[in-house]
Amino acid sequence: MIPVTTFPGRDVAVFGLGLSGIAAAHALATGGARVLAWDDTQASRDKAAAQGVTLHDLSSADWSGIAALVLAPGIPLTHLEPHWSVKQAQAAGVEVIGDTELFFRERAKEDSGAKVVVITGTNGKSTTTALTAHLLEVGGRPVALGGNIGHAVLDLPQFSPSLTYVLELSTFQIDLSPSLAADAAALLNVTPDHLDRHGTIENYAAIKARVFDGLPADGTAVIGVDDDYCRAIADSLPGPYAVKRIAVGHPVETGVWAKDGMLTEVEKGVERGRVGLDGIGSLRGAHNWQNAATAYALARSQGLDASTIAKGLGTFAGLAHRMEQVARAGQVLFVNDSKATNADATAKALASFTDIYWIVGGRPKAGGLAGLEPFFPRIARAYLIGEAADEFAAQLGADVDHVQCGTLDRAIEAAAADARRSRGPEPVVLLSPACASYDQFANFEARGKSFRDIVIRLPGVSPVQPTQGRAA
Ligand code: ADP
Repeated sequence: MIPVTTFPGRDVAVFGLGLSGIAAAHALATGGARVLAWDDTQASRDKAAAQGVTLHDLSSADWSGIAALVLAPGIPLTHLEPHWSVKQAQAAGVEVIGDTELFFRERAKEDSGAKVVVITGTNGKSTTTALTAHLLEVGGRPVALGGNIGHAVLDLPQFSPSLTYVLELSTFQIDLSPSLAADAAALLNVTPDHLDRHGTIENYAAIKARVFDGLPADGTAVIGVDDDYCRAIADSLPGPYAVKRIAVGHPVETGVWAKDGMLTEVEKGVERGRVGLDGIGSLRGAHNWQNAATAYALARSQGLDASTIAKGLGTFAGLAHRMEQVARAGQVLFVNDSKATNADATAKALASFTDIYWIVGGRPKAGGLAGLEPFFPRIARAYLIGEAADEFAAQLGADVDHVQCGTLDRAIEAAAADARRSRGPEPVVLLSPACASYDQFANFEARGKSFRDIVIRLPGVSPVQPTQGRAA
């Protein structure tokens, strides 16, 4: 834990008692603050109290003596409407900040020499964060990984000179971190998402761009330039820190670009290194090239060389439930993409394979499978499950051969049997549901775990190990 010592003897309100709220309450209390913690739901309050957090009903609090409100990132700060705790704090002139702000203030105060690398973007944050941490570890660096993935920032180990923090930050966390100051920061991409929580796309992009605020002169900004918003942000970055552009399909002047699975690092137009991603199962697909190129640039900014990065890319196991290669049976590959809860995410998986036995369905989202039509020729057969089955059958129509399976176990059995009969070089049994899981599972993790468990029990199946990478 990182004790927060910037509010000694002061009252600090903490609202939203999930993982990060509870961590903030403990870190503040350990650092000498008096914590007034609250949540709208009784279950969250009970859970926090059971972990030793002091509760205080903030709805009737006297805010005049409160130094700050530490708001959980999931609680509305601005849109659709500020939460009542935010309104009360603002009315009393109390600053509203996040646990990540506490982290950055503490880091500035400690001045320990610990490095901080942060990653944001609409898509690919978790993959890039985990990959960056993995590359640094392969390079022999002690790493603390957290933020919007895994541990809350204040639950990470204390600052020390050799440690590098690799943090995934959501837009909400950036919005609550006015003192954000990283040594290297990456913005992967900006596409319309969560606009309900950020108003306009311009506002959303502007918050994302703040990830580069506070970079030191010897720091590095890494920015994908494949969408209009990020291109505009890249062009407006003031420096003097280094700016590394990331692109897929076209070269950049300075940065890392990817084409046909090859990453090329360039500095003012001069090639500095190349790493191939061919055969790295966890980094299939053009979207993962963007993630890998970003992680490459971040790792280089921290002093790693191309051959170490190549080794790290090749040993990256990937994240569970995101195009996770689970097992093989002969030529057949089993892939768990349970995290794909909408058609956009599923498009990435369908674009990555060609002989697909596709398990799809669950609780459908608006639009269903709309937009996936270009990938239909890649699908050998679709296996429909869950509430979406009838709607999806109608959408697939005569274009895609499909069968009604009802449940995941029946779908896996049917898909595996069909895939084994394929003559293609790599038939893929792919769970990429394009749906929420809640009709049949507690969450997408439970759905993915169920897929894994059933697949592993199939006859003749062996688990997949991460592949080795190579420099080129
Ligand atoms: P996040 O943490 O931003 O949600 P993840 O790394 O968990 O991103 O990936 C979630 C899903 O988003 C993946 O399964 C894939 O479908 C899609 N995705 C991953 N990386 C990218 C990217 N760079 N661009 C677009 N989509 C991506």
